[in-house]
Amino acid sequence: MKNSNPRIAIIGGGIAGLTAAIALRKLGFRPTIFEAAPEIKALGAGLVLAANAIKALERIGIADKVIPAGQLLDTFSVLDQKGLPITVADSRELSDRFGVNNFAIHRSELHRILLQSIGDLDIFTGKRAIWVKQAEESATLGFEDGMQYEADIVLVADGIHSNIRQQLVPNSKPRYAGYTCWRAVIKNPGIELKGSSETWAAAGRFGIVPMKHQQIYWFLCINAPQNDPTMRAVMVQDLAARLKDFHAPIPQILKATRNEQLIHNDIIDLAPVKQFAYGRVLLLGDSAHATTPNMGQGACQAIEDAAVLLDQWEKMPDAFPAEIFRAFEQRRLKRTHSIVNRSWNLGKVAQWTSPIAITLRNGLLRRLPDSVNERQMADLYRVDF
Ligand SMILES: Cc1cc2nc3c(=O)[nH]c(=O)nc-3n(C[C@H](O)[C@H](O)[C@H](O)COP(=O)(O)OP(=O)(O)OC[C@H]3O[C@@H](n4cnc5c(N)ncnc54)[C@H](O)[C@@H]3O)c2cc1C
Repeated sequence: MKNSNPRIAIIGGGIAGLTAAIALRKLGFRPTIFEAAPEIKALGAGLVLAANAIKALERIGIADKVIPAGQLLDTFSVLDQKGLPITVADSRELSDRFGVNNFAIHRSELHRILLQSIGDLDIFTGKRAIWVKQAEESATLGFEDGMQYEADIVLVADGIHSNIRQQLVPNSKPRYAGYTCWRAVIKNPGIELKGSSETWAAAGRFGIVPMKHQQIYWFLCINAPQNDPTMRAVMVQDLAARLKDFHAPIPQILKATRNEQLIHNDIIDLAPVKQFAYGRVLLLGDSAHATTPNMGQGACQAIEDAAVLLDQWEKMPDAFPAEIFRAFEQRRLKRTHSIVNRSWNLGKVAQWTSPIAITLRNGLLRRLPDSVNERQMADLYRVDF
C-alpha cells in the first residue's frame, strides 16, 4: 500500500459499511463512518445468513461472535398451499463438507455485534453524503448539511438508493419486482417448527424461519402495483383473511402477530451495474448489487464484499487502492450479477398466480432430482477467500 495511513471514509453504517470497517481494522486502518440516520441501528426483522456469509464472517474474524446469537437452519422446504412438499433441501451433508451451515439472526442483534466488533472508530451520524469529487491526490465528499470531508479512499455502502452510485452511474435506478412484502418477528405461541419453509400459492408466498429465543420470523409476498396505498393500509387481520385456507401453522402465526410488529416494503433490486470500482471510490453491498430477497443473499453478499476486500488487500499490500479496487471488482462482478439475476427469476416463478402454471411448476419441481438443489447450494457455499 503506497500510503500506510490512508484517510478512509465509509458512507453508510449498515451491514456492508460495518463489515467493511471491521475488515479494514484487521488491515490496521482506522476508517471514519458517515451514517445518514440519527443513530446506527437496524430496523427490520429476521435475516437468513447462508453458509457463504458465515465463511465471510470467519474471514473477517467475527463468526464466533455472530453464530451463538443465531439459530442454525438445517432444512428448507418449499410447500404448496396444503403444506405438501414441492422441494426439500437438507443442508446438513453439504454443511459437513464445507464446515458451515445456514443460519437465522435478528437484524438488530447482528448490528449490535458488528458495532461492538468495530471498537472505537469515529462514527458520525446524521451525515447524508450527496456527492463525491475525485482529484489526483484525494476524494472530497459533500454532505446534505454542507459539510465536506477529504479522504484518500471512499467506500460507498449507503444501500440501494445510494446517492453516490447514482452520481457515478446515472441510469442505475432501483427496479420494482412486482410484489410487496410484509415481515414480522413474533414470539412463538407454542408451534413446533421442523425447519424453515416457504409456501408458494396463488394468494401469496409465505415464509417461516425459526429463530433463537422462541421467536419466529415470517414474511409474506403478494403481487401488487408499486406504492399501492391499499397495500400500505393492510392489517394483520386482512392478511389472515387472505391466507385463511393455508396449511397450519400459517393461520396460527398470523393470529399471534400484532399490527405494530408488521414491517412493509415493496420489493426492489438494482439491475446489474458494470462497474464497482471508480478510482479511489468503491461501491459495496446494496449500493453495488442490491438483490431481491428470494435467495436470502443481499446481506450475505455485503459481508462477502468485506471478506474479499480484506483478502485482496492482503494479496496486494504494496498496490494503490485503485488497483486493489479493480481487482476486487473482477472477483465480485460475476458472482453478484448471477445472484441478482437468479433471485429475480426465482421470484417471478415463485409469485405465479395462474392455477395451471402453478400445477405445472409444482409438478416439475417435485420431479427435479435432489442433486440439482444440492448443486445450487454448493455454488453458493463456494467462496473464493
Ligand atoms: C424483505 C427483505 C428481506 C431480506 N432478507 C434477507 C435475508 O434473509 N438474507 C440476506 O442476506 N439479505 C436479506 N435482505 C437484503 C439485506 O437486507 C440487504 O442486502 C442488506 O441490508 C444490505 O446492506 P447494506 O449495508 O448494503 O445496505 P443498507 O442495509 O441499506 O444500509 C445502508 C446504510 O446507509 C445509510 N445511508 C443511506 N444513504 C446514505 C447517505 N447518503 N449517506 C450516509 N448514509 C446513508 C442508511 O441509513 C443505512 O444505515 C432482505 C431485504 C429485504 C428488503
